[in-house]
Amino acid sequence: MGLFSGKNVLIFGVANKNSIAWGITQALHDEGANIGLSYAGEMLKRRVEPLAESIGVTFLEECNVLDDAALDAVFAKASAHFGRLDVLVHAVAFAERADLEGSFVNTSREGWNTALSISAYSLVAMARRAQPLMPNGGAIITLSYYGSEKVVPHYNVMGVAKAALESSVRYLAYDLGSYNIRVNAISPGPIKTLSAAGIPGFRDMLRYSELASPLHSLVTPEDVGKTALWLCSDWGKMVTGQTIYIDAGYSAMGIPYGVLDAEREKPAE
Ligand code: NAD
Repeated sequence: MGLFSGKNVLIFGVANKNSIAWGITQALHDEGANIGLSYAGEMLKRRVEPLAESIGVTFLEECNVLDDAALDAVFAKASAHFGRLDVLVHAVAFAERADLEGSFVNTSREGWNTALSISAYSLVAMARRAQPLMPNGGAIITLSYYGSEKVVPHYNVMGVAKAALESSVRYLAYDLGSYNIRVNAISPGPIKTLSAAGIPGFRDMLRYSELASPLHSLVTPEDVGKTALWLCSDWGKMVTGQTIYIDAGYSAMGIPYGVLDAEREKPAE
């Protein structure tokens, strides 16, 4: 018996085998969950389909989260397929490259709306549709990043979207608490994925995070998957409205001495 045997889980955001959502999918699958996947666009189908097949997932639906009718259709199909849902995973984000390359001050209205709508509003849209499918209560998780709280150069409008996302987590936790539905965000340190590749200087972010974090380690999608297990199971049953950092302690640091030490220890050229 796995921790999620008999539980139904709907996951948005698997793009390929490096996706954080895939790490979460594998963790939940290993614990016996029945899984449904939703992906964005025909172009990703050829990557996501073999992954779904590899773990015997038959519920595989395309959905652009900007499209309310498409969201309605996925949740209606999930209702017909699973009957009820226990867990919803929102691992979706997008910002135009121009808004990540340039200065934040130049963010266009269109770029702002796109980033906030795909990366933050979509959680609200999904939660509203998931609530009637969770008559026994449930858990909703989303993915955030430290750039919501502190300035991370080039994260720009995505940092603002993550701030809106984390605030939405708290308001949703309040609204859905009376249905015994918990809503939380996991905030991992940087992980090399398709989306992350769009952030200029991402390799430096990886290197810096490794040097500066107390554990001097990088986070993996598997680490995030393990966090999702406790957060979405009975182990996390009193946790809601929170943003949980899984970042090797990076966010606990004020002045990252580790980086200076590494500089000092560099052999002279
Ligand atoms: P990823 O590229 O694998 O996943 C992002 C997903 O968002 C993709 O599946 C993509 O198809 C989907 N998406 C984008 N626009 C969409 C739309 N209009 N409709 C439906 N889906 C859409 O990258 P990832 O790093 O696994 O990202 C997953 C989540 O984790 C994101 O919210 C991201 O911000 C967050 N996150 C990532 C990191 C990191 O360093 N990789 C760190 C912290 C948080």
